[in-house]
Parts: sequence; structure tokens; C-alpha cells
Amino acid sequence: MKIQLLSAAVLAGLVFSCTDNQTPEMAVSEKAPELKKSMRSLRVTGDQTVAVYMAEYITIDAATGNTVFFNDRGNKQLSADFVPLDPRRGGRANITYLVDDEFTSDNGLTAAELEQAIDNGMNTWDAEGCSNLGITKVPYSGNSGFVSSSLGFGGDITLDADIQHSGFLPRAFFDALAPGGGDFILGVTFTLLWQDGAGNFTDIDNNGKLDVAFREIYYNDKFSWNTDGNSYDLETIALHESGHALSQAHFGKAFRSGGNGKLHFSPRAVMNAAYSGVQRDLKSTDHSGHCSNWSSWPNN
Ligand SMILES: [Zn+2]
Repeated sequence: MKIQLLSAAVLAGLVFSCTDNQTPEMAVSEKAPELKKSMRSLRVTGDQTVAVYMAEYITIDAATGNTVFFNDRGNKQLSADFVPLDPRRGGRANITYLVDDEFTSDNGLTAAELEQAIDNGMNTWDAEGCSNLGITKVPYSGNSGFVSSSLGFGGDITLDADIQHSGFLPRAFFDALAPGGGDFILGVTFTLLWQDGAGNFTDIDNNGKLDVAFREIYYNDKFSWNTDGNSYDLETIALHESGHALSQAHFGKAFRSGGNGKLHFSPRAVMNAAYSGVQRDLKSTDHSGHCSNWSSWPNN
């Protein structure tokens, strides 16, 4: 289905730092003004609208990832999740995803290699025995990417899946998330929420979590990507971003070792906020985070 831009009010916003382990050089953008200006309500179908709620990004090891909230809900930032059997998503019990195979990238990887790396990341989460998400890949039918389109990075606005791997974008896109972000952000997941008729976010299943309409994932074209086990490993980042797309937050405390200042995490996990090498398998905290959220799906 197609989405059309509304001339809706620009979201008032605040930037909320969710980590206590960030270092000064990667403090999140004061206002991310360019991005905020572009985060308008979108009409999905009929009178149903959505808006961007937050973005979670992962960085190279010179920085630590962060979460940017685009919508001011007072000082309370709620988590967000898909609603089982949500009629606004067609009443489905499964979770769908697509891969934009018109990835623009000069990293030397073929479209097939890119797609396989992303499929592998999705399949790793789907293989978790505690959950039964029925993750289903759906065909890509056009330029996905509400966020990229609204920021002028191309594509019309197509919503075909719950999780949209919407391609590689130039560094300038990531500069909108944090000062100089294009130089250290590897990937980002945007969470878009359903709005009610008054423009408020909803919680129709009364679980204390805002209802997710869909999520969009972007990768930074500035970096050199690989699928042969060298950094930066696309499957590692695809697995991490897909974790966000399945409602997992960052996990693990960052610290730097004395000698070379190398970034480490405790515990090491796929959902650490920065890249610390190839990680194609889920660690225990990734597993427990996933299972606590999804084990009862679609019955919660
Ligand atoms: Zn992340």
C-alpha cells in the first residue's frame, strides 16, 4: 500500500540519551533538526496515520550507539512493540520483512550477497526456539523507505512489510542523527507508530507499550561492507538491526581497555551499541531479551 505525506505539524521533539556509557565525542545531536523537520505524520491507508517515534543506531568502535526520540511524551519514554493480530497490520499473526534489492552501494558486494546477509540475520532470530513469529519474507515491490524519502534521499513511500530493510544511504543521512554521525554510524532502525484520529500514539492491547506500525532499517554506504568474515560484516549489523526491529533495545555496558583504548562490552552481545567484531550468533542476553518479549506471541 502507498503512503502519502500529510502536511501535518512538525513533531515537537526531544533527544533522549538512553545510555550512561557514552563518551563526549558521540553525544547525540542536540536537536537533530533536519531529521525532526522531516518527521511528519504519514497517511497509510484511509484515515490511518503513522509517525516516527525513535531511532536506534549502532556505531563503529570509536563511538557508542544511541537512541534518538523524535516525539515528546513528557519525560517518559515508553517502549514500543507490535500488537499480535493487529487489524491495522491486516490481522496477521506472523511478522513480515522485505529487503530493498535496489540497494545503492559502492562496497563491491553484489545484490545477492547483500540480500543473503540480511536474510541470514532475520533467519537467526526466526530460529529462536522460544518464539514462534513465523517470520515471512515478502517481495519487494518498489522503493521502500518513508524516512529516506521524507529526508530527500530518494524513493517513493511504500509499506509492504513489518520490517523494511530499506537500503544503503550516504553518510549525509546519518549526519542528521548525530553530529558527524555519517562518520561513525553503521546502521539505524527507525520505529514508526500508529496514531489515532487525534494524532496520539496508541496502545490498543493495553500492555504498556506503544503500538508499532512498522520499522525501517538503513545501512551507511560510507563504510566498506563484507560478507566474507571481514569487517564490517553486514550480517552482524543486519542481525543487530533486526533485533531492534523485533523490539530489543541495546544491552551491555561499554568500557575501554587501558593500553589501546579499545572498546569492549560487558557482556558481549549482538545488541551491544557498537561494533566489536563479527557476531553472527545470539549471545545469552540476546536470547533472553528475545524470549521474554516473544515467547507468548501471538497470545499476549
Ligand atoms: Zn543498535
